[in-house]
Formats: sequence, C-alpha cells, structure tokens
Amino acid sequence: MDEKKARVNEESLDPQDWHAMRDLGHKLVDDMMTHLETVRQRPAWRPIPNEVRAKLNGPVPLEPQGAEQAYADFVEQVLPYPLGNTHPRFWGWVIGTGTPLGMFAEMLAAGMNATVFGGQSAPALVEEQTLDWCKEMLGYPMNSSGLLVSGGTVANLIGLTVARNMKADGDVVAEGLDALPAKMVFYGSSETHSSVVKAAMLLGLGVQSFRKIPVNSDYQIDLQALRKQINRDRNAGYHPFCIVGNAGTVNTGTFDDLNALADLCETEGLWFHVDGAFGALAALSPRLRPLTAGMERADSLAFDLHKWMYMCYEAGCVLVRNAQDHLRAFSGSAAYLAHNPRGVASGTTWFSELGLQLSRGFRALKIWMSLKEHGLDRFGRLIEQNVEQAGYLVGLIAQQPALELMAPVPLNIVCFRFVDRSLEESSLDELNREILMQLQELGIAVPSSTILEGRFAIRVAITNHRSRREDFDLLVNKVLEIGRACVHASSPTVSHR
Ligand SMILES: *Cc1c(COP(=O)(O)O)cnc(C)c1O
Repeated sequence: MDEKKARVNEESLDPQDWHAMRDLGHKLVDDMMTHLETVRQRPAWRPIPNEVRAKLNGPVPLEPQGAEQAYADFVEQVLPYPLGNTHPRFWGWVIGTGTPLGMFAEMLAAGMNATVFGGQSAPALVEEQTLDWCKEMLGYPMNSSGLLVSGGTVANLIGLTVARNMKADGDVVAEGLDALPAKMVFYGSSETHSSVVKAAMLLGLGVQSFRKIPVNSDYQIDLQALRKQINRDRNAGYHPFCIVGNAGTVNTGTFDDLNALADLCETEGLWFHVDGAFGALAALSPRLRPLTAGMERADSLAFDLHKWMYMCYEAGCVLVRNAQDHLRAFSGSAAYLAHNPRGVASGTTWFSELGLQLSRGFRALKIWMSLKEHGLDRFGRLIEQNVEQAGYLVGLIAQQPALELMAPVPLNIVCFRFVDRSLEESSLDELNREILMQLQELGIAVPSSTILEGRFAIRVAITNHRSRREDFDLLVNKVLEIGRACVHASSPTVSHR
C-alpha cells in the first residue's frame, strides 16, 4: 500500500530549478529596465515584419519549451513591436505612459496572485485606502462608494447602471425594463465618448435612448438645446433620467459647464454622471482645478488612472456618491459567497458586490505604491506640464502659416492640420492622413486623428510624462517637411487650384 503511494508522480507548475528561475527573473528585470531607460533612442513605432507575424501564428505548444525559451520568444517577437505608448513622442488617442515602479507593482501583485473580491486580506484594505485617496484628490465626498475597474468604459457603465436603477419608475433590478411605464432617455453632448453609447446598449436602453445634444463653438454642451430636448422628451412621454457631463472630451479636452449641468439635474430630478476619464485629473493641479468645478457634485464619477496618472494598464475608477445606491445595483446573494463574522470571509467591503467582476486583480497596488513613490503633488505638476506643452505646441503652430489649429485647446489636446494655399479644401483630408501615417511609419511620433466639423485633424493628446518641448519642435518640423514633400510630389493637375 505504502509502496504504491510512493510511486504516484505528482506535478506542479513551480520551477524544477528555483535557482535558474531566479536568474531568469533578475535578467528580465535588468532587460526591462534597460528597455525603459533607452526608450527615447528607439522609433516611436515600427511596423511588425512578416517573419515575426508568421511566428505569432502557430498552434498551441503541447510539450514544454521552458521558461528561458518563452522569454526569448517574448524578447524576439513581442518586445520590439509595441503600440509605442512608453515613447516620449506617443500622443495618440488618450493613452498613458506607465512607470518602472508600476511595472514592479504589477509583478508583486501577480506574485501574491491576489484576487480582490472581498474577504479579509491586506490587498482589500489597500484598495479601500486607494479609493479613499482617489476621493480625496478629486474633492469627492469621503463617504461615497467606489470601485477600481478596467477603465473608463466600465466605470461609465457602472455609474450609468446605478443611475438607471435609481431613477427608474419601477423595479428594474427585479423585473428588467418591462417594469417601466415609459422609455428612459438620457443626455450628453455630441462630443461624449462612445463608451457612454455602449453603456446604453448594454443597459437595454438602446443607442437612441442617448440624446446627443449639439455643442457650442467651444465644444461644450449647448445648455439651451439640452433644456429644449428634455422638455420635448417629457412632452412626448419619455422618461429623462440622467445627464452625462464631460470633464475633458476625447476630441478636444473640453469641460462642459458642470455646475450648470448639476443645477439642471437638481431642478429636473435627474442623475448627474460625469465622465472624467482623463480630464478629472486636472483637479490635481491647483491651477487647473477650476476647470473641474461642479464635478464634485456628480452622483457618479468615472475616471482613469492609466491615462493621465500614467499608471500601468489597467486602472480605472468609478465613485458613487450614495454608497447604498451603488451596493443595491450589484449585490446579489449566493450561498457560496456568504460573509462570516470572523475568518477569511469577513471584511467590510466586498468589491464583487459593487461591480461586474467577481474575480478581480490587485489593481490598487500600483496606484498605492506610485502615490507613495511620487506623492500627489508631482502628479499635479506633470499634468500641468502636459497642459503647458499643449500651449507650447499651439504657439509653434501659430508661427507656421502652413499649419492650422482646428479647435480651441482648453487642456492637453491639440488638433491641427497642414494646409497649402495651392490645394483644394477637399484634398486636405487625404494629405493630412498621409502626413499622419508617414509620421508613424517613420517612427517619428504617434499622434492619432479625428474629424472636426467634417475635416480631418491630426490630434495630439499629451498624457505622457516623458515628453519634452524638443519633442514638439521635432513634430512640427517633420509635419512641415512631410507635408511639403507630399505637395511637391503630387501631380500639378490633380486637386490643385
Ligand atoms: C478613454 C476614455 C473613455 C474610456 O476609457 P477606457 O479606460 O479606455 O475604457 C471614456 N471617456 C473618455 C472621455 C475617454 O477619454
């Protein structure tokens, strides 16, 4: 009997040679530190060669190749071809830069393999403290509720779920939308992020339930048009339930008049949700904080830490003013998730009862450690520095007759294009798209693009702690150089005046 037991061959995923694995760990930390330290010397982006593409397209390995080989494949096939967002001249979409300590924190969280759904563990306390720090830094009530999530998309979804449930004329939680006597509708400017529309789809309200209100010449929601639409909807038998205020729109970094929206929500009995994905963080700078005035009055507030706080992906956050409202939207009861008065299943905050996820990673650690590493004030200064860099770029554009600023720049986003008097308006879109693609393909810089009033714009969104003024000098010089070369190369008979 005992002999038989001894012969059972049981496996584990731990290394057979702990010493070799430790050496590999030291090596990869060294490699990644070198990678980050030298990021400025590499192109901002480079295309993935076909040989590499082919290697990233094969069947699942059935036999072990070993940790060293897995790492070698990463170094060869993955590391050299990122999106580019650790680079000082990456300004596409709204994408954060990350930090070395953030990288280490991710490793430590994975080392603990912490899952933070509830129960008694220090990681849960760290998330609670991190959420308190978030409330403090944004001036949001300390007795509010909150949750770290994957990003602004999920933060918006959670805020709008609570809004729908709390403002419904019926028990949506129990009966779904069938419980409602009237169709629920909500409002935001035409510049509102697409994730809000996605939330309308997921909440069963439908895309049309989100009323896109026009903006004024500063890209802020037109309050007059908003009031009219609310009245029109009420008269037509709809049930208005929420206004989404923008604290930093994705196209131009614009803040709606948040105090006016909060007032309107009060008089109309509507939920006030603020999407502050990156703009909310302007509150960290005493100089920029006035832009966010009224944000603290939101019933729910969504923002990201992986954008303008430069945290490693993923790190978003939602705060909900009334903690009971938040809990009611997501807490279910399941025998296997019962709380106990003592032991592992005790603990105050059960994060799984505040959002979609049951199993959740330890997102809080990198935020908690980074705030300790740098202190809040440094983040405020960096945010201010990015806004100053946007102003610097605006100044460079103003000096060049061949460049045109395409929207006001209230924050950190600059939209511009190359113009040439010999060209028709209709050919400028394609020309600027060509300039943008060449900037990226040549590895010079990574702006992205948008359409403003029907015209193609090169869009520079600065949420990058590595950018320096000289990077914007280079951008402007290269846009001019590429633009002139394109104009020169194009046939004089096509699209010229
Ligand atoms: C990026 C962004 C979102 C979505 O956030 P994710 O973190 O990408 O999910 C929502 N709103 C605005 C204004 C954004 O810039």
